[in-house]
Amino acid sequence: MTDVTHDRIPLAALEHGTPFADRHVGPMPAELARMLDVIGVGSLEELGQKSVPDTIREGDLQLALPEPATESEALAELRELARRCRPHTEMIGLGYYGTVTPPVILRNVLESPAWYTAYTPYQPEISQGRLEALLNFQTMVADLAGVPVANASMLDESTAAAEGMTLLRRAGRSKSPRFVVDADTLPQTIAVIETRAEPLGIEVVVADLSAGAQALPEGEFFGALLSYPGASGAVRDQEQIIAEVHRRGAKVVVAADLLALTLLRSPGEIGADVVVGSTQRFGVPMGFGGPHAGFMAVAKGLERQLPGRLVGVSVDADGNQAYRLALQTREQHIRREKATSNICTAQVLLAVVASMYAVYHGPAGLRSIATRAHRMAAVLAEQLRRGGVEVLHREFFDTVVVRVPGKADDVVAAARRGGINLRRVDADHVGISCDETTTRAHLAAVWQAFGVTGGDTDELDIETPDALPAALERTSEYLTHPVFHTHRSETSLLRYLRQLSDKDIALDRSMIPLGSCTMKLNATAEMEPITWPEFGSLHPFAPAQDAEGLLSIVKDLETWLAEVTGYDAVSLQPNAGSQGEFAGLLAIRAYHRSRGAADRDLCLIPASAHGTNAASAVMAGMRVIVVRCDDAGNIELEHLRELVAEHADDLAAIMVTYPSTHGVYEDTVREVCGLVHDAGGQVYVDGANLNALIGLARMGKFGSDVSHLNLHKTFCIPHGGGGPGVGPIGVREHLAPFLPNHPMQPAAGPVTGVGPISAAPWGSASILPISWAYVRMMGADGLRRATLTAVATANYVARRLNNYFPVLYTGKGGFVAHECILDLRQISKTSGITVDDVAKRLADYGIHAPTMSFPVAGTLMVEPTESENLAELDRFCETMIAIRAEIDKVVAGQWPADDNPLVGAPHTAASLAKDWDHAYSREEAAYPLGTDVVKVWPPVRRIDGARGDRNLVCSCPPLDAYQA
Ligand SMILES: *Cc1c(COP(=O)(O)O)cnc(C)c1O
Repeated sequence: MTDVTHDRIPLAALEHGTPFADRHVGPMPAELARMLDVIGVGSLEELGQKSVPDTIREGDLQLALPEPATESEALAELRELARRCRPHTEMIGLGYYGTVTPPVILRNVLESPAWYTAYTPYQPEISQGRLEALLNFQTMVADLAGVPVANASMLDESTAAAEGMTLLRRAGRSKSPRFVVDADTLPQTIAVIETRAEPLGIEVVVADLSAGAQALPEGEFFGALLSYPGASGAVRDQEQIIAEVHRRGAKVVVAADLLALTLLRSPGEIGADVVVGSTQRFGVPMGFGGPHAGFMAVAKGLERQLPGRLVGVSVDADGNQAYRLALQTREQHIRREKATSNICTAQVLLAVVASMYAVYHGPAGLRSIATRAHRMAAVLAEQLRRGGVEVLHREFFDTVVVRVPGKADDVVAAARRGGINLRRVDADHVGISCDETTTRAHLAAVWQAFGVTGGDTDELDIETPDALPAALERTSEYLTHPVFHTHRSETSLLRYLRQLSDKDIALDRSMIPLGSCTMKLNATAEMEPITWPEFGSLHPFAPAQDAEGLLSIVKDLETWLAEVTGYDAVSLQPNAGSQGEFAGLLAIRAYHRSRGAADRDLCLIPASAHGTNAASAVMAGMRVIVVRCDDAGNIELEHLRELVAEHADDLAAIMVTYPSTHGVYEDTVREVCGLVHDAGGQVYVDGANLNALIGLARMGKFGSDVSHLNLHKTFCIPHGGGGPGVGPIGVREHLAPFLPNHPMQPAAGPVTGVGPISAAPWGSASILPISWAYVRMMGADGLRRATLTAVATANYVARRLNNYFPVLYTGKGGFVAHECILDLRQISKTSGITVDDVAKRLADYGIHAPTMSFPVAGTLMVEPTESENLAELDRFCETMIAIRAEIDKVVAGQWPADDNPLVGAPHTAASLAKDWDHAYSREEAAYPLGTDVVKVWPPVRRIDGARGDRNLVCSCPPLDAYQA
């Protein structure tokens, strides 16, 4: 017998299998050693010690997190948590409805990395697929809303309504600070509007407008919000009110239900200026509140006021139709404190799902889904009436409210026993909503809860007329574009989806080295649970006991995020980083007020900050002063000292990003915090760059009071082509009483909180399992290893490329943090080749461009993340080096400045098939590194953005338009 015991791996270790961290982290040990060699350090630990300032580094930090689980262990735990969720048949309504995600869309969009790992389409030439899907979304929304232009998604219905309010304030002529809100509006929307209005000095007047135009309050107001249908389900003709509001010099936002609009006259036709709402019920699971795509659409003349992103049609260099983001793309970066909104990450993936739902069903299919919901509600109401129950409204779409004096609790409890959640409006009223999933059996169960017996649904159906006002019947057409009439079979839709995603470069094809965006692995095991029905089918206002498992995930995440950041309390409600910024600044504002320092309203923001910072500060009622940065990219301390001294009485806060958006660990951060604290201000650290800190330092310990984190950056929620996101905030104890809360869910925040900043109590709850799984599987050591590896990949790229494209800023010891800025300004000056040319040329090499011209114009910011292995890092470096050689050829005159592969990039297959009369060859155009590569063909040539802006087309153009 051979003695093998010495070499054997113990069974316990074998049973455990490969640690997840080995899968998440790209470079294998031997690769890492090679990288460290190039960087010039002996180990990851040494790199950490040398690059992170001693003033903040917690050398012996042992994060108190559970021991890491394997993928199967984590999934088993998640299954157990899912078992502890017991979704009922949700007939609560209030903006959230049962819906069926067509399986072909579920698997090939929601569960497909080609869609969910894509980035925001700032590089339009390699984003045509998702841009087309978003254009379909805009067309769908604009058509149904009856106005010409819709944007490519808002964070949810309530924030869209609040943005509608601020849009009217910007665009309107009235100087009045008053905004009227119809009382029959979703309660969470009223609450979010109030949160947004208060710091801006907008006075919200909630008025019962059920009696029509004469119920409008006296005196001036700048705008009004109407609901169509109302929260009570009532469908009212709003035409007279809108006319009266207009007559009085104000404008109108209508919060509308897109499904109802397939049957009802559109808000545009009755005069709405702005239409907002949610597309959740277009195939997106309720998910205990989110994520789903909100929308905003506007009447003619307001399109340049739209917040968020707008897809438009233009042409490429060959004259072919092509899509790209129009107008205010990255608007905050340009306009900063004057931006229309702070929205950055939106809800692209969910907008794609909703748009495909419309593409698949078409107008007739949507109409029949709407009719089903309506007929179910009509029949339901009729039998209740016959049973002696008072139904409040005669005209409704899918929701009825009934009066049961003193009995609402009993009825709601009886319905629950029958497996159904109804809405308890108050002690005397119950709301019931029908949807695409409502069956005749559900109606029977509801009747039983009211003690109403009998009721033959089919007979009732014959005897019951529709409950929609005849005058509001929809006569105008919608979704007439061929795309909504072509893909009825699954085969056809499947191929359409594949055709679109094949046009794009997502993480499943190439690294996406986008500085500040942290495009790391979104592991399959992390993603699996989000489409489990136990999480997806929960209504956000269902009793908490139905969501025990998901709430346990919420609690774990709050605890773990507090631990990794060193804060005392966390709120998961904000559904993007921008919303976290707003929530955090509101907390600071409320804190100052609680201490009688309401005059503190000044926010200092370094010149290098992300544009959302300034936009959020303004939304929180603060003034912004910019702190200069010095030549090394650091906050100019002298300038900060001056500003702090000058503003000792009105300083509210400083917002700093750490490590900075220059990709550097500034070693003065403690001093910065101290200066601001000494002057009575609070410190907000923008935590978008947390991927460079976890396990090494904690902002809650080095002087910050509050931060947002981007779970869609550091904590593996995929970018989805521009959303969803989650932007929780962590705060120190003194700010904890001022976290967001929610009027319908006391457990979601402190009673003393600043109000809700999202529609749902826990924001985008259904994607929290992704971040939960990441922390659960990485453990403390894994997270620290990820951080150090991310710093290593960035420093490796910086070292390899510095001789070709100088690295603009470095910190202590000449190291960068987790990203580096490549300075092309000098190269551009001598060669005429711009960052744009380089970005487009990268597409010919099959690589997604880095972040362009942020935070410094004329530069590229590269963030490789810990998930890329050495081969991919080298492919990127070698490509950049090859591009540098191409630039040199232009400089040397070998290629003319106006005819070379850089200015000609990107090259489509079709462009090569045509006559070729360029100074460079077809091979140089398409296969610059030889033909031994898997070629990714860009589907369009360089897109003319300016032309598209002059000639704004933001819905699907006729199929033959713009052909060369
Ligand atoms: C991404 C980012 C934000 C904005 O976050 P969103 O989730 O897109 O709203 C803010 N600050 C910095 C530094 C960022 O990188």
